[in-house]
Amino acid sequence: MRRNIVAGNWKMNKNFSEADDLICAIQDELANVDVCDVDVIVCPPYPYLELVTDASEDSDFYVGAQNVAHFDDGAYTGEVSASMLSAMDVDYCIVGHSERRKYFHETNKDIAEKINRLIARDITPIMCVGESLEERENGNHFDVIRKQVEEGIFHLSAEDMQRCVIAYEPIWAIGTGKTASKEQAQEIHAFIRNLIVEKYSDDVAQEVSILYGGSCNPKNAKDLFSMQDIDGGLIGGASLKAEDFIQIVKSF
Ligand code: PEP
Repeated sequence: MRRNIVAGNWKMNKNFSEADDLICAIQDELANVDVCDVDVIVCPPYPYLELVTDASEDSDFYVGAQNVAHFDDGAYTGEVSASMLSAMDVDYCIVGHSERRKYFHETNKDIAEKINRLIARDITPIMCVGESLEERENGNHFDVIRKQVEEGIFHLSAEDMQRCVIAYEPIWAIGTGKTASKEQAQEIHAFIRNLIVEKYSDDVAQEVSILYGGSCNPKNAKDLFSMQDIDGGLIGGASLKAEDFIQIVKSF
């Protein structure tokens, strides 16, 4: 059965000592929270992964990376492989974030390759999809999302598909303070779940958590998470403050 998930994406923020303070504060806040009904994931930048995996040993959260190479190993300067992440006890990895699609020109094909490498190492991919404002205003958002899902992840077997998480992140809502309404988000989440039903089965679709991302905060999280097909959130800005992040975790 699909799990409720709240994942914090720190992006390229915090120096080492700030990262240390943040993870300690998250640990302190989490100590007073019942997390039976929700999986909490912290996704720091690569250099802080060890700090965060060490902290996770005494606390109730999982660790995610923000990216992975679409190659196995070799002469790819600056890249980090799925086997390296696995050796660091990373549980999840974000792939296909709109910032990577935009600034690093990641294609659906690259994303599919990354997902294969993560699955091979038992790391759960959190695949991001989402439309731009222009695409929504032109009424193309369903087609854009269908293509991202079909080309990014639908090559997987049913068994592997059930191990994945999808995050719907409308680009116009990321870091803008402009959240999708719960109805807008639910409509797309239901659309994605239905794509999974059509491609695989209802049983598979019921195993895949679909998260909402885009200016999710302690004020709007409860409303968003109350919707039938919204299984939690991928949180950017609000994950950089332990109190706000844990408030979102408590929204379930
Ligand atoms: C994100 O980038 O994944 C994100 C959801 O950012 P924010 O919460 O800051 O909009």
